[in-house]
Amino acid sequence: MNEFLPPLTPIISNWMKNALADRAQIKTLFETYGSPLNLHHLVPFNHNYEAYASVLNKHNLRHLILFARKANKLPTFASEASRLGFGVDTASYRELEQCLQLGCAPEHLVLTAAIKTQRVVELAVANEVLIVVDNEDECVLINQVAESLGKKAQVGIRVSGFEVNGRVLYSRFGFPIKKARDLIITQIGKTFKHLKYIGLHFHLNGYSRQERGAALHATIQCADDLYQHRIRTHFIDIGGGLLINYLAHETQWHTFHQELRQAVQGNRPPITFNNNGLGYQLIDGKIHGEANVYPYYNETPKAQFLEEVLIYKGENGLTNAQMLRERDIQLRLEPGRSLLDQTGMTVAQVVFRKHDSRGDLLIGLDMNRSQLFSSSADFLLDPLIVYQNAPSPALPPAEGAEAGYFVGAFCLEQDVILKRKLPFKRIPQIGDWVAFVNTAGYMMHFYETQAHLFDLATNFVDTTYSETSPTFEQN
Ligand SMILES: *Cc1c(COP(=O)(O)O)cnc(C)c1O
Repeated sequence: MNEFLPPLTPIISNWMKNALADRAQIKTLFETYGSPLNLHHLVPFNHNYEAYASVLNKHNLRHLILFARKANKLPTFASEASRLGFGVDTASYRELEQCLQLGCAPEHLVLTAAIKTQRVVELAVANEVLIVVDNEDECVLINQVAESLGKKAQVGIRVSGFEVNGRVLYSRFGFPIKKARDLIITQIGKTFKHLKYIGLHFHLNGYSRQERGAALHATIQCADDLYQHRIRTHFIDIGGGLLINYLAHETQWHTFHQELRQAVQGNRPPITFNNNGLGYQLIDGKIHGEANVYPYYNETPKAQFLEEVLIYKGENGLTNAQMLRERDIQLRLEPGRSLLDQTGMTVAQVVFRKHDSRGDLLIGLDMNRSQLFSSSADFLLDPLIVYQNAPSPALPPAEGAEAGYFVGAFCLEQDVILKRKLPFKRIPQIGDWVAFVNTAGYMMHFYETQAHLFDLATNFVDTTYSETSPTFEQN
């Protein structure tokens, strides 16, 4: 039984290949720190930043790029951002505190935390870090804190509820744009005497360039309304959510979806664990819904995405870039995931092979699902398998099929590391390594837990900036 399992070939940086080829180094890291290992490299981080900066420079825009550090826990990206002169978007007390300790310039920091306690507001105001305001209760709190510290608090106002193609985009965050305008005109600097309005901010869910473009256009118009009241908007921040393209081949992406739909309809053997539809549903013999997955393949990643938002034309026929330039408004963005493209990989060791009660091959990895987890229904990239030379007893394949699933250490039936069924040239042996590439943005950190009292994975960063012989130190 040699059923076709659609491949999803990832884009893989040279540093990743070279790191895995340095068997001695990885072996030592496993021996010292256990599995899995989170390996990071800063060169792609710099390239990603440069690519954004060059689009913004091409359009002659004043700009500030802020790395949304919630996408990865490591302090190294915050220090690197600071070293290269760009900013960091912080979303909690410790994120902000750590950035200040690392020496990030306060004018290059922003606090966008969804929940702002008095403590984090005090830290921001005392250090003159701009706070992005989400609601009126926050205005009251920030105003009180600023007054008691004898400071003016610099604020950006988060706006939302944009109308695109006759539909209002839902958000739990921010003020509807008209409310924001009224708040800024009638209350900031007045009722809220200790607040100083600096600019406008939004961050949209989803990955539509058109929505992003329309939202920016509407926000610039809001700045124009404010200008009529002699209120100057110094910046507009368009948040994050810029795409990464993870996959090497467009056709593979389409084939995967096609095969998945066929499997869910029962027209072919499953390609996912328990024939999980990843969002596709079978109702009355028909496929409904969409795959609830990140657009792992797309043609407008990173700088191209930004370019499209900048050349978006509103009903007045002007591009966003033109409008920003004419008004001399600084454009800010807060990419998290996309600045981390190609900067990280997770490597785990094989612990067992077995067949489950259905006869499917399971390969047990020394890690758990929280260490490779996102809000996407699955992480749709083929892992790399590093076969060790040491001989070990081979597992007889079930009916000749050398395909199976990676499972993890939680005592849950659902602790399947990837939901996709993967074909193996050779069945991995105990001690072989499995590398999941491009996991630095959210995948490795955002949902990791210490359930079962498992230690968190150890994190390493290359210290040499060499892509040919990366050398890792704990971070
Ligand atoms: C999460 C978030 C970001 C980063 O989003 P990415 O998808 O990682 O680029 C930026 N700004 C705000 C306000 C956020 O909540």
